[in-house]
Amino acid sequence: MTQNTTTEPSTNSISAESLTQFCDEYLSASVFKDYAPNGLQVDGGTPIQRIITGVTACEALIDAAIADNADAIMVHHGYFWKGEPAPITGMKGRRIRKLMQHGISMIGYHLPLDAHPVIGNNAKLADILDMTITGALYPNESHPVGNIATCTPQSADSLIAKITQALGRTPLYISSNYEYHSGNNAKTTANSERVIKRIGICTGGAQDMIEQAAIMGCDAYISGEISERTTHIARELGIDYFACGHHATERGGIKALGEMLAQKFGLPVTFVDIENPA
Ligand SMILES: [Zn+2]
Repeated sequence: MTQNTTTEPSTNSISAESLTQFCDEYLSASVFKDYAPNGLQVDGGTPIQRIITGVTACEALIDAAIADNADAIMVHHGYFWKGEPAPITGMKGRRIRKLMQHGISMIGYHLPLDAHPVIGNNAKLADILDMTITGALYPNESHPVGNIATCTPQSADSLIAKITQALGRTPLYISSNYEYHSGNNAKTTANSERVIKRIGICTGGAQDMIEQAAIMGCDAYISGEISERTTHIARELGIDYFACGHHATERGGIKALGEMLAQKFGLPVTFVDIENPA
C-alpha cells in the first residue's frame, strides 16, 4: 500500500461572499428577473477550497461533495423556487441540513447561466453542435434568454446524429412534415426535403418558445423538454422540433463556469454528472 505524501493540500481559498460577488458580476446576475434567487443560497460558513459543480443541487450531488471534502456546490438548479412552500422540511430540509452539517455552501445561477454569451448553456450547446449564434430569440427584450443560430445546411437526420453524438442521447424529433390521413393511422411523414440552417436554441424546459422560433423564421427549434402540445405547434407552424433533454442540454453552462473559476482562483473544481434521463 502506498501513500501519496507528495501532494500538498491546496492552500488557496476564497470566502463564499467573494466567490458569489465575482460570479454575480461575471454573469450580470442582478439584471435578470428570475424564478429563484441567484448567488449564495445556503451559506456553509467555511472558506471555500474545493468546489463541486452539477446541474441540480439534489441529494446525490451533496453526497458527492461530502465524499470529495468540498466546501461548496455550484449549480444551475438551486432551491427556493417561486411558489414552492417556504418551510425547510422533508426533502428540502434533508438537503439543506446535510449542507449545513458539513459546512458546504450552495451557490446557484439560473437564467444568468442560460444567457451568458460565452459560458452560458445556450452558448455551450451551440458550440458542441457546431452552430454559430447570430442573435436572440426575443431581440426586443433587454436581457433575452434564448438564441438564434446558424449551421451548415443539413437534414434533420444529420442533426439528430450530431445531437446524439454531442449529448450522448438521441433527441425526440418532431417533424413538421405531417399529414393526417382520415380513416387511417395519422402519421408523420419523413422530413426528407427540409434543409435546416437557421435554428432557435433554448436549453431546459423552454419548449413553449418554439412559437417565437417560428415567428423568427427558424427551420428548427432545439430545447430540452417536450409537452404534448409541442408536437401540434411544430406541425402547425411548420418548424421541426428536437427535444434533447433538460438535464443533457444544461450541463454545459455550470461545467464551463466551474472551469473558469478553477483557472481564475486556482481552486480544484470537479463537475459531477448525476445522470438524469429527463
Ligand atoms: Zn433548467
